[in-house]
Amino acid sequence: AHLDRIGAVDGAVHAFLHVDTQRALATAADIDRRRAAGEPLGELAGVPIAVKDVLVTEGMPSTAGSRILEGWVPPYDATPVRKVREAGLVPLGKTNMDEFAMGSSTEHSAYGPTHNPWDLERIPGGSGGGSAAAVASFEAPLALGSDTGGSIRQPAHVTGTVGVKPTYGAVSRYGSIALASSLDQIGPVTRTVLDAALLHDVIAGHDPHDSTSIPTEWPSMAEAVRRADVSGLRIGVVKELDSDGFQAGVRQRFHEALTLLERNGAEIVEVSAPNFEYSIAAYYLILPAEASSNLAKFDSVRFGLRVTPSGGGTVEQVMAATREAGFGPEVKRRIILGTYALSAGYYDAYYGSAQKVRTLVQRDFDAAFANVDVLATPTAPTTAFKLGEKLDDPLAMYLNDVATIPANLAGVPGISIPSGIAPEDGLPVGIQFLAPAREDARLYNVGGALE
Ligand code: GLN
Repeated sequence: AHLDRIGAVDGAVHAFLHVDTQRALATAADIDRRRAAGEPLGELAGVPIAVKDVLVTEGMPSTAGSRILEGWVPPYDATPVRKVREAGLVPLGKTNMDEFAMGSSTEHSAYGPTHNPWDLERIPGGSGGGSAAAVASFEAPLALGSDTGGSIRQPAHVTGTVGVKPTYGAVSRYGSIALASSLDQIGPVTRTVLDAALLHDVIAGHDPHDSTSIPTEWPSMAEAVRRADVSGLRIGVVKELDSDGFQAGVRQRFHEALTLLERNGAEIVEVSAPNFEYSIAAYYLILPAEASSNLAKFDSVRFGLRVTPSGGGTVEQVMAATREAGFGPEVKRRIILGTYALSAGYYDAYYGSAQKVRTLVQRDFDAAFANVDVLATPTAPTTAFKLGEKLDDPLAMYLNDVATIPANLAGVPGISIPSGIAPEDGLPVGIQFLAPAREDARLYNVGGALE
């Protein structure tokens, strides 16, 4: 049914870069056989799933939205993909994304934009717009995304879906094509909070292949949803992110959701996070610095594209021609920014200062969580904007991430949950909750109460 749905609507939505019909049908048939044979299977066995193209998949192309990886077929599965396969889920294919996960609209994909199913002229968010659009358009019930500065949560906000960035280190990054290694986290994109929790339980857990993976036993997130109870829960509203900079309808639905929680026994208090306003500036130095280093491996020798200048060329000339042809403008912009920020003489002024701001943001979280159990903010400032509206204005694009970036800088978990429709434009909006590191279950508790 989902493959039929993809056939019917993906021409207009363009959520997928690759659909593996044969393998999906074979996997589904295998699950049916095992079920008929009485084999005990997990709760999600047989459920289809879409996979963001940032995750490498054995035998399936994996481009991360870039020309430089066009045609590359990885020899192994990323750990989260391996885990969903082992749990009996059925990968349908790979979803569109901003090139190397840089962006908030999916317009930076080298393969053309994805369209928001609510209004095809609008952006589906980014960088994981493909995963969010696939779930919102019923092409897939579940999807995997990656969130470095909001790429799971902001697409969820603009498509009326649920998106979760787990605690840094909760889900393995092995096989996730790295954007910024200290910020990247893999997580669920779904239509309900319970679906997200069930998928979270499948993908989380220690992985010796990822040195930053947390060696711990996690409680069941699905249990947290099913037992949801917010009585006595202290919810802190971040004053700095409840301001005029946010669209009226986004704030209206945000406060209505808080009122619902209050009626169910939660206590709403105002908290201040004075350093959050510097998050974007710090992030857009730290991220390009790490990305410029991570992207150095695309050198025309090891992966994907190789362009040889006419008449041949030296190794350096081949590398330069390949990177010139293979990377899009946003990727080049960030490589230049990151290389500059890391260069001798500027390192302390830019990268060093940004790391200090990162510590201050972490301290804001520590101070807030000394008083409250979770924090609440609108997920993003506005509803889905029009395709093309911010494409030529990188700063305007970056400002979308104001509410999502602090969680990545601090490594704490975050969830975006649909909070209704903005009255002024009829488009979906989300509310974001943030919890201390390793307390992901608190997000599912609050989410379960709202669902
Ligand atoms: N919009 C952010 C950026 O462009 C989000 C990236 C992400 O989470 N992958 O960096």
